[in-house]
Amino acid sequence: QAKKDGRGVYRVYDESMQAETASGWSIEQELTIALLDDQFHLMYQPIVALQGMAIQGFEALIRWQHPERGLIAPDHFIPIAEQSRLIIRIDHYVLRKALRQAAFWFAAGQRFYLSVNVCGATLSEPGFVTWLDELFQQYGIPCSCLALELTERSLIENISQAKDSLRQLRQRGIRILLDDFGTGYSSLSYLSEFRLDVLKIDRSFISNMTDDATDHPIVNTIIALAKGLQLSVVAEGIETKAQQQVLQRLGCDYGQGYWFARPLSAEQAMDWLKAARADLQ
Ligand code: C2E
Ligand code: MG
Ligand code: MG
Ligand code: MG
Repeated sequence: QAKKDGRGVYRVYDESMQAETASGWSIEQELTIALLDDQFHLMYQPIVALQGMAIQGFEALIRWQHPERGLIAPDHFIPIAEQSRLIIRIDHYVLRKALRQAAFWFAAGQRFYLSVNVCGATLSEPGFVTWLDELFQQYGIPCSCLALELTERSLIENISQAKDSLRQLRQRGIRILLDDFGTGYSSLSYLSEFRLDVLKIDRSFISNMTDDATDHPIVNTIIALAKGLQLSVVAEGIETKAQQQVLQRLGCDYGQGYWFARPLSAEQAMDWLKAARADLQ
């Protein structure tokens, strides 16, 4: 949606970036420099099994450490990058960084996956799957170390190419997660058309679950829908113990949110994991 609402997005950007804009750099130029200058890093947020609490994976989330403006969240630059082919370069950059980290963790004996957000343009780019194959080879890790998160919007923008890539990715054992489920084009037909593994219930539905209600019809229905399609379900944005308990009761498979952990640096993620595993014993 942000794509169509370009003006609104730019306004957000302008508020924090007025000075540079005045000096003549376009946002695209700044992002290009940032890529060359390695100004981005990844944070990792755990995805936890709600029964048994085992760690399933970590979602990789990009951050921009701007030399003058400080830390910039992805909502302030990803929608802008999506308006041009810059998003493809950013997605490649993130995948390289994520797989390097995955290789490090894999070598240390960890067996969870890293879940990376990619946009439809990246997925539909000819040669994407071959490019990924080469990365896996370079890092010497199995494809099961990676999961990809796509939004409904980005999948339908290039249906036939996206379908083809998804098929090849899943053949390799790369899990496909449908991100922000329930907020996009609410056409359900492509849910069975696309081969997916996991639905991520958008966090707006989770934060709308009030503590006093006993039934949660929307969340309940999304979980039932996922089960009917033989997909597993992740609830995003779990912030309270009450939400975790309700989701457990409703049969949601996995959870992610500040209640478990905020997005963490790679080092913090390992500390968190050690503490979580010690807790389980
Ligand atoms: P997303 O993929 O839906 O990621 C989840 C967002 O929710 C993250 O925001 C995360 O920090 C936030 N979050 C997690 N748990 C909670 C919670 O309990 N409460 C609240 N209020 N928020 C929570 P973040 O990191 O700012 O990312 C925003 C969006 O930017 C992501 O939404 C994703 O669409 C996009 N994005 C992030 N990293 C990348 C990337 O590497 N590539 C691409 N193409 N997009 C990315
Ligand atoms: Mg995501
Ligand atoms: Mg999401
Ligand atoms: Mg989102």
